[in-house]
Amino acid sequence: MTDPRTDDRRDRRARSWLAALTVLLGAIVLLAEFAPGATAVLPYSEFRARVVAGRVASVTIGDRMIRGRYRRPTTGAPAPTAARAPLDFEVVRVADPQLVALLGEKGVTFEGAADTRWLSWSLTAGLSLLAALLVGRWLVQRLQGPSGGVLSFGKSRGKVAGEKDVTVRFDDVAGVDEAKRELLEVVEFLRDAERFKRVGARIPRGVLLVGPPGTGKTLLAKAVAGEAGVPFISLSGSEFVEMFVGVGAARVRDLFEGAQAQAPCIVFIDELDALGRTRGGSAMGSNEEREQTLNQLLVEMDGFATNNGVIVLAATNRPEILDAALLRPGRFDRQVLVDRPDRSGRLAILRVHSRTVSLAPDVDMETLAAETTGYAGADLANLINEGALLAARRGASAATGADLQEAMERVAAGLERRSRVLTPDERRRVAYHELGHALVGEVLGGASRVTKVSIVPRGLGALGYTLKRPTEDRYLLTESELRAQLASLLGGRVAEALFLGEVSTGAASDLSQATEMARAMVVEFGMSEKIGAISLGRGRQIGDWGMMSEHGGSEHGGDLADLVDSEIRLLVSSAEAVARKVLEDRGAAVHSIAATLLEREHLDGAELRAMLETAMRGDAEKT
Ligand code: ADP
Repeated sequence: MTDPRTDDRRDRRARSWLAALTVLLGAIVLLAEFAPGATAVLPYSEFRARVVAGRVASVTIGDRMIRGRYRRPTTGAPAPTAARAPLDFEVVRVADPQLVALLGEKGVTFEGAADTRWLSWSLTAGLSLLAALLVGRWLVQRLQGPSGGVLSFGKSRGKVAGEKDVTVRFDDVAGVDEAKRELLEVVEFLRDAERFKRVGARIPRGVLLVGPPGTGKTLLAKAVAGEAGVPFISLSGSEFVEMFVGVGAARVRDLFEGAQAQAPCIVFIDELDALGRTRGGSAMGSNEEREQTLNQLLVEMDGFATNNGVIVLAATNRPEILDAALLRPGRFDRQVLVDRPDRSGRLAILRVHSRTVSLAPDVDMETLAAETTGYAGADLANLINEGALLAARRGASAATGADLQEAMERVAAGLERRSRVLTPDERRRVAYHELGHALVGEVLGGASRVTKVSIVPRGLGALGYTLKRPTEDRYLLTESELRAQLASLLGGRVAEALFLGEVSTGAASDLSQATEMARAMVVEFGMSEKIGAISLGRGRQIGDWGMMSEHGGSEHGGDLADLVDSEIRLLVSSAEAVARKVLEDRGAAVHSIAATLLEREHLDGAELRAMLETAMRGDAEKT
């Protein structure tokens, strides 16, 4: 980076030079044009009178002007040559057909001339050209700027970090073990491509790191380069999108050319969503440019030979808006989730960042990790740094627990604005809610098993989540499986009602999903007894049926709509009853598992099943 102030000064100097030059040129041009010449301008009548009087010796007749000399009888000196001597007078020419005859008659020598004030004209033209050139050059310099402005078309602004520049290792990234495991393969390939080539294995070209800001995606990408000992070329998606169509595409081409020259290497594109948004989405002007850039990126990713050692890592926190073409095989066909860390992850991250900071012995990392639910890696790094700053300000040599507590308040204030930090009551509610989903799903079985329950806020909307994976590829679902899913969806709300005494707004999206599902069961799959095995049309809203009856379009529309509604209600309420029974029967288990979940923040499927089993066995022994 150049210092912007230096740029500014240079600019100002250039501008004043330019202004001075322009004024000077203007003055010269004006002088050339309007300076009173040595020659007197005569009125035509006067000129004619002097010819008649025989005082004129010679004239030069131009298109617009007549210039001439008087006779000089007194000096007796030889007449100066016409070309050199200064002229005596000038006349603006008027239409006078008799002039030539008169001149002949009076013995005046005369000649014609292409009448141009060529000197002043060419001077003006030359100087304007010069001025234009200077201004043009200055403008180009301005636009290009010292760090590559808008006119540096082909230059990608990828910062090429040499091998030695990347000092980040996997050890510096904590709390994202799954992501590290997935990326380890990339490292191995970069280290020893031959081994993979021998087997003919195809290595991923693009890996998409998905996760909220500050969770360490950039850091991970760097660590991959660092571990493999290859150059790391990084660029942000927004840097590609320029105001000129074609610039972004040229930049992409250039980036990949550069990468190719340094292969094996890592190319890291941050904010992929800035350029990889679904094409044809909006009518904005910048669209064409973005599409071209995206197309070029696709071409480049397809273009490089399978095993050439350039691996593209990209980061986004909005994978859902990416163009589907980007996610096809051979492009970003691998996605690695980099989520906010859970409690043990946070502890690990805190440890990483406290390596370089002196901490007083009273600092309890465990408590700190427990108190920072929802913090991303960057927030934790920030927390430690703030603590150290506070200590330094006090003049202390190490940060104490109190410093870190104060730092936490500061960081949390900023964090609350960006993401959610839950109160203890809210966390408890989220834990019971998610457990409700998970346990009902687990007990009723159905087509999928719970793989993870978490109360770490994820993305923008969800406060916690339960992940379920289908046990096998399924194309058909039976009615009982659908009913089980419905019950599991409602399990969250039921758990809140049962164990916390009342429900909360957190169940709103569950309810709408459940209603949609029940509606599909009634109107599409014919799973309602009263309505029977008829399809009421795909994608048709129940409201449509009501509307039809209102306008007299269908005889039974109104009744049918009511019936559909009541059948949906019946399905939902019976699913709710099933969920309630499941949870009521396992009250003690729910409480003990919830306590563990609150402490650990996430449980995987196997752990959940084991705990459920132990708790149930304990219950059975008691009775
Ligand atoms: P992202 O790219 O996901 O927005 P960054 O990788 O830029 O996040 O993270 C910013 C900083 O936060 C890092 O430089 C690092 O100091 C810290 N950080 C974030 N996540 C982690 C992590 N998992 N382990 C250690 N430090 C982290």
